Amino acid sequence: MQYTEAGKPLIKFSHCKKYIYSFSVPQSCPLCQQVMGSRKLEEAPVSISNPFTNGHQEKCSFLLRPTQGTFLSTHGVQRDEAGWEQSVSIPLLQPGMFGLMDQWDKYLDDFSTTGAWLPQRYEEDRHNCYTYTLTFINCILTTEGKEQLGKDEFIEKYVVPRTRKASKYITLYRVIEERGFYVTDHPDDETNPPEGSAAC
Ligand SMILES: [Zn+2]
Repeated sequence: MQYTEAGKPLIKFSHCKKYIYSFSVPQSCPLCQQVMGSRKLEEAPVSISNPFTNGHQEKCSFLLRPTQGTFLSTHGVQRDEAGWEQSVSIPLLQPGMFGLMDQWDKYLDDFSTTGAWLPQRYEEDRHNCYTYTLTFINCILTTEGKEQLGKDEFIEKYVVPRTRKASKYITLYRVIEERGFYVTDHPDDETNPPEGSAAC
């Protein structure tokens, strides 16, 4: 994973009864300008986990990434062998389905070579990566004698929780890049930047 693609690590520390997010702990607090000297244990910086994973190392997952570049930079080479280093990964295997892991690639191969998924049949809204994944999962579920998933259920249950987390992270990252830090109230929960969207 390249440093530029992964982005800089984010940290969070406490000062002025606020949570301050930044790329590193500054010499002085950006709010009160006080030197960030001897710190109490509860004020020690913690790192914010990056919601992106290297998609090439994920198994049986639905991966999301921007159409161009990576989430945190706007350029990048894309081939199937590369370009998914910064993805939002959505595990698709449900409990009790792990026995499928070995056949997954074969199922996916067979499924993908049916004429339905030729590139020229791609339609932005109705025949896209979500329908592809959903149709595939439903094939598997049927094979396993399980109930099928509806599109809304799939997106709500599998996709949204992950993209929501990723979009918060991206917003936070961009604000820090622009202003150097981001402040939230203490000690309420994490961050509430506006929601964004992810591309396939
Ligand atoms: Zn301060």
